[in-house]
Amino acid sequence: MKAILVRQFGGPEVLKLEEVPALKPAAGQVLVKIHAAGVNPADTYARAGNYAVLPSLPYTPGTDGAGVVDSVGEGVKKVKAGDRVYVAKSLSGTYADYALALESQVHRLPENISFCQGAGVFIPYGTAYHAIHHQAQAHGGEAVLVHGASGGVGIASVQMAGAMGLKVLGTAGTEKGLELIKREGAHQAFDHSKPDYRDEIMRATGGRGVDIILEMLANVNLGADLKLLAQMGRVIVIGSRGDVTITPRDLMSRRASVRAFTLWAITEAEAADIHAGIIAGLENGTLRPVVGSQFPLRDAGQAHILVMKPSGAFGKIVLIP
Ligand code: NAP
Repeated sequence: MKAILVRQFGGPEVLKLEEVPALKPAAGQVLVKIHAAGVNPADTYARAGNYAVLPSLPYTPGTDGAGVVDSVGEGVKKVKAGDRVYVAKSLSGTYADYALALESQVHRLPENISFCQGAGVFIPYGTAYHAIHHQAQAHGGEAVLVHGASGGVGIASVQMAGAMGLKVLGTAGTEKGLELIKREGAHQAFDHSKPDYRDEIMRATGGRGVDIILEMLANVNLGADLKLLAQMGRVIVIGSRGDVTITPRDLMSRRASVRAFTLWAITEAEAADIHAGIIAGLENGTLRPVVGSQFPLRDAGQAHILVMKPSGAFGKIVLIP
């Protein structure tokens, strides 16, 4: 089988397609024939050697993927050979022809969801679910600002929050991104590349502010976010790439809060909620992963360059083995 291998941390050029030994599932494990692998920003942080938890070298990147169960190890009951699944973390990495996963890491992929869409399920929708339900504890009728709505997590958040009855305000940095987020359900869309877009957001809430901000770039936006919050508002930090200064009195005067998380730290109970919610939403059509671009597996380096471009996300980037 072929797989991308990273033998040393570094730039996108360290992602090399190599022939590697075939995998075999041991007890409790599942071997998945990967039809599409999802590319997430965190894959690039790890590849560069710049992440809280680093894999030991050499390794095959990729947390997300979708495909068909090839074979299962002893004792596996949840899936059988031939089942369509999405992978949410794995033992061997998803940028490969096959991935070995624990039984708990594979989940049924509904028939109406393509493999490319399935490759964009776990990190984007799991993050959106955890942010909206567990962290923000959102209620229908609240107003949420999805700050960075045109990317993987953003689109998932727009769809999920809309399905729950929240008023959804979203931002993007291009015309195409703005059209995309309106199509996916944002009630109002704002261009975060414009100098006065925050005033527009405030006006759109009648000066009240938003109840929840899902923040994809906290190092740029957190200080200004606090001034956009309504009373008891909360910012959920999802993405950040550096330091930022805030004015704590903006929080005090609103009885507001900032919460943050990484998806790696969710509990088993939270994971069970997340997958049940996601699978139901995929089946009933409220959650519709958007595939932005596809690359052959050998071009994983190009996909890593694209996912880190400052603007121009239009859904998920996927790799096809
Ligand atoms: P993505 O697909 O690359 O999307 C990035 C998003 O950020 C796009 O919507 C982009 O909009 C937007 N953006 C660019 N400049 C912005 C600005 N000045 N203000 C607000 N948004 C801006 O990435 P993703 O997969 O959605 O992930 C988003 C972030 O969350 C990344 O930093 C990622 O590492 C992080 N993340 C964290 C967790 C966690 O566990 N905490 C999980 C998943 C992702 P335009 O392209 O339209 O400008």
